[in-house]
Amino acid sequence: MAVYPVQHTILLPDTTLYLPTERFRALMERFPRLDEKMTLILMRDGEDYEHLTEESFYPIGLTGTVCEVSRDGWFAVRTSARVHLDEIAVTPPAHIEVYTSRLSDTDDQDPRLEAQKVQELRQQLDDFIRQARWGTMTDEMKEHMKTLRDIAVALSPYMAAPTSERYALLEEDSTRRRCEMIEKMVLETLESARLSQEGSQQQTEEYQKNVRESAIRKQMDYLQKELDEMHPENVSDIRRLEIRIEESGMNETARREADKLIRRLKQEGQGSAETGMLYNYLDFLTSLSWKKEEVREIDLKHAEEILEEDHFGLNKVKNRILQQIAVMNLKHRQSGSILLFVGAPGTGKTSIGQSIARALGREYVRVSLGGVRDEADIRGHRRTYIGSMPGRIMDAIQKSGVSNPVMVLDEVDKLSQSYNGDPASALLEVLDPEQNSTFTDHYMNVPYDLSDVFFICTANTVDTIPEPLLNRMEVIQFQGYTPMEKKEIARKHLLPKAMDAVGLSGDHLQVTDAAIEQVIASYTREGGVRGLKKRMDTLCRESAVRIVRGEKETVTITPELLEEYLDMHPVHQKTVREHPIPGIVTGLAWTQAGGDVLYIETMLTRGSGKIIITGQLGDVMKESAQLAVSLVKHRFPEESGVLKKSDLHIHVPDGATPKDGPSAGITLTLAISSLVTGRGVDPALAMTGEVSLSGDVGPIGGLPEKLMAAHRSGVRKVLIPFDNQGDLRDVPLEVRSSLEIVPVRTVDEALSIAGLVKEQALEQAV
Ligand code: ADP
Repeated sequence: MAVYPVQHTILLPDTTLYLPTERFRALMERFPRLDEKMTLILMRDGEDYEHLTEESFYPIGLTGTVCEVSRDGWFAVRTSARVHLDEIAVTPPAHIEVYTSRLSDTDDQDPRLEAQKVQELRQQLDDFIRQARWGTMTDEMKEHMKTLRDIAVALSPYMAAPTSERYALLEEDSTRRRCEMIEKMVLETLESARLSQEGSQQQTEEYQKNVRESAIRKQMDYLQKELDEMHPENVSDIRRLEIRIEESGMNETARREADKLIRRLKQEGQGSAETGMLYNYLDFLTSLSWKKEEVREIDLKHAEEILEEDHFGLNKVKNRILQQIAVMNLKHRQSGSILLFVGAPGTGKTSIGQSIARALGREYVRVSLGGVRDEADIRGHRRTYIGSMPGRIMDAIQKSGVSNPVMVLDEVDKLSQSYNGDPASALLEVLDPEQNSTFTDHYMNVPYDLSDVFFICTANTVDTIPEPLLNRMEVIQFQGYTPMEKKEIARKHLLPKAMDAVGLSGDHLQVTDAAIEQVIASYTREGGVRGLKKRMDTLCRESAVRIVRGEKETVTITPELLEEYLDMHPVHQKTVREHPIPGIVTGLAWTQAGGDVLYIETMLTRGSGKIIITGQLGDVMKESAQLAVSLVKHRFPEESGVLKKSDLHIHVPDGATPKDGPSAGITLTLAISSLVTGRGVDPALAMTGEVSLSGDVGPIGGLPEKLMAAHRSGVRKVLIPFDNQGDLRDVPLEVRSSLEIVPVRTVDEALSIAGLVKEQALEQAV
């Protein structure tokens, strides 16, 4: 016998039920036949036809016989006895078998009393229909309402009663008590309909309206679901959104907003300007992941292997990341401190973020903040704006498809401010663990929990990052690579990737060590490896072209081939001059691209004691120059007499690059001293340090980058401030051992080392 599961329905013996034919066909893979016997069983609330199990049903059902099969998509079943489901077996997706035993009713109802009740209820129904100006009760309707059971079934779609109450009717074996229950349900339904019609009191009306509305909505939902399942191709856009809202698991506030907008969408109808906006919004809201991801224990060993596999060196950085993962494991958290990776371009800051995501087994998204000026870029525009959009953070969350991605916020040092609010303060909210569990994007207008996101920020410098933002992050320096490290990176990572990208194997292309060294030395000038990566890509592409054209079967790149294959001349490398010139001294500078070697040039011209400064120097550096002049006048009172009769011109070449900061103080002092004494300073001696008016040398920033630049450029000896010695730990051994590094406490020590004062003169001066 066919077993037909039904939902939200009133099942009573000796009534006629109208059921959708398509549903029967979907479950039984055929159409119902006239006179076919079947068992109807009732699904519990919240169950759906797709995922039925033995527990999906109430234990009492009904038998029935098909009495009509219509061509319009329904069939009618005349129900007979109640049955107990002794055993039930569900074979997914929906094949159901039952073993039943018949239940008998205790027939204790007085037929005359029932006839009278039917009469009364029909009268009340008729009154209500008239009152509501819905016409009158037709004979056909009366024909269908000969018993209380019929009335219950007919009114079933309008009843607010939950399935459990409907099932109670089926469970009851006394026909008298069953009639009483039906009467009560029908009266309640009529009463609630009447109250809402009459609109007696504001409050009751509101309440009744809600009751009625929710009953109608439930019924509509049910019918709509049935229709959708019968004709999936016709599911309307709104319905589709409703299904997505239901399935998204969004939080309560979001759900309320979404429901409100769905209602508005239904009122608006198609094609209005607002509809498009509402669709976009709901589409966005439902495409976010609202699910809280499970916290997984991360295997540290495996994470370490992945970090090693993706990046060469960077041991300190990798260690710090592993510490963070260990803490997350211990605390059972999805995120930890916010890391800020600081260093020159191409030092692997962004790509290690990707590697962290891989090590954690999480999604990766990148948000570029370079040039972001408006708060709305971070936090979105309010929906009232035409063309409004979510901000970059929520946009990235949507792209990631999860609520706990690893999110790299690139270039936080390039945020700027405009009259449209401060993006940094919006970012502060994103990163603040106290606030980010309820981050509200203006466009979304409902809170979203960002507390599981693993945030990583990157920057070239910390100088331009607002203090409050910086305080929230833990700074990790990326120092830049030595030529030897670069060679390893090229060999192990850049070249294999580049070859892979063009489909070349080691059988086709060889690049000699000498060629890689030459590329590093003569075709790039950088702290990171971005340029090196580009050159490797070009070499592989060029080789591929030649091999494909049949010009060559295999290519071996040697230093001699570089110019041709790279199609460029070697970059002019800054190497220090060979001969000293009085007035010119080698300095070291920190730049966003890493460190650099620069010369401070001074010259006397005919004039009257003026100081001319060129080379785009900032205010702090100009002051350093003034200070240097005073120091020189004090240290060399006789020799500096010329400064009264001539103008002193100070120039720092590479004029297009703005330079600032106090760290050239010592270089300026030595350059002017060299000029007035007429003694040259060895160009292979470079220096960095702030000086005070009393002649003390104070600490400076960016020492590792400066020493790397010195190493690249052929400097042999470097004077560093005494107090910076601690930073030497961060300088690769290869660099440290190639340079003679001399810590100095005072200008006088520096003057002496540079050979600008004789020992006795120094003693006299002090
Ligand atoms: P940044 O974000 O610091 O500017 P990227 O992460 O974009 O630098 O790195 C540029 C390229 O150099 C990437 O292809 C990256 O994989 C590669 N790279 C940088 N450092 C390393 C390293 N230590 N090992 C392997 N590849 C590296």
